[in-house]
Amino acid sequence: MPAPSPILLTPGPLTTAPATREAMLRDWGSWDGEFNRMTTSVCADLLTLVHGETDYVCVPMQGSGTFAVEAALGTLVPRDACVLVAHNGAYCARIVRILERMGIACVTMPLGEDEPAGADAIEAAFAREPRITHVAQVHLETSAGLLNPLYDIAAVCARHDRRLIVDAMSSFGAVPIDLRGSGIDALVSASGKCLEGVPGMGFVIVRRALLAQCAGRSPSLALDLHDQWTYMEKTTQWRFTPPTHVVAALRRALDAFAAQGGQPARAARYARNRSTLVEGMRALGFEPFLPATAQSDVIVTFHAPRDPAWRFADLYAAVREAGYILYPGKLTEVETFRVGCIGAIDEQAMRGAVAAIGQAIERLGIRVR
Ligand SMILES: *Cc1c(COP(=O)(O)O)cnc(C)c1O
Repeated sequence: MPAPSPILLTPGPLTTAPATREAMLRDWGSWDGEFNRMTTSVCADLLTLVHGETDYVCVPMQGSGTFAVEAALGTLVPRDACVLVAHNGAYCARIVRILERMGIACVTMPLGEDEPAGADAIEAAFAREPRITHVAQVHLETSAGLLNPLYDIAAVCARHDRRLIVDAMSSFGAVPIDLRGSGIDALVSASGKCLEGVPGMGFVIVRRALLAQCAGRSPSLALDLHDQWTYMEKTTQWRFTPPTHVVAALRRALDAFAAQGGQPARAARYARNRSTLVEGMRALGFEPFLPATAQSDVIVTFHAPRDPAWRFADLYAAVREAGYILYPGKLTEVETFRVGCIGAIDEQAMRGAVAAIGQAIERLGIRVR
């Protein structure tokens, strides 16, 4: 028997339900009708989840979330475009690097890692830089756990007729998103975040009329979203070898998602996880990095103790032994570490994690305050 899985307090891969893992205990042929109907139903459910049935299509893409982000930018953004990136974390930086690789002009709006992007500031950037044609916006900056005001930003983009591509990787399924009349042109997410599937498949939900104009634009064959879409429309099959087991697990995870009460229930469970975690950590002396107004329920960043005896690696190892996997910080300026609140886990897991952290701190002799 394999060792039991640890509880992953990381924002993907994350803890999955046993039923989701069990869905992978068989094989599928990529030409098989049963498998292809499964892909079709997964895409239909993903579209419905954000009310995109009428004007949008859902195109799946093999790979981790970044592959889908790169596919969306490479396929949807013309080479002579200029993209605004309001920059408040590592995933914004990744978008900038992708655009640089593609030789697409980019205007970055530097923000603090605790500072949400403001719709007013984005509107001011449009006035200052009329060459901006697109906005690439991270909805939930997972580096700190910060939630950006997507609807306000989308409204500004719609008012000024700028295309808006959203990295909704760690918000999709947990934070409500309604595409109808939103001004959002494309939304990117993946199987292994708040939908609680296993990692290996991204997807882009994109305005059909926009994607239809993008034939032959992608500089990459494998990441050509238009090609993937038209091939799938024609054949119901993936262009290249599909991540069969990932699709099967996501099908099962989406069934569980619906049975548990959909997005509102998921958001409520993550909110309970977050508040249990933050209360417990505060009692140990740890302070969250973000102000409550910017804090999402997906992941919490904590300030590292100032004690010179502090080493994240030591805490990680001690808490690992108790069965929990923590996440290092990803901020550039301050020393932090992170605890994820998403996955098939509840308050009991969060209480267990806090207890394990408390015991580890005591054993390591670290003064938190
Ligand atoms: C997880 C994540 C991604 C994708 O990262 P991968 O490592 O490629 O899965 C992109 N953006 C955000 C905001 C994320 O949280």
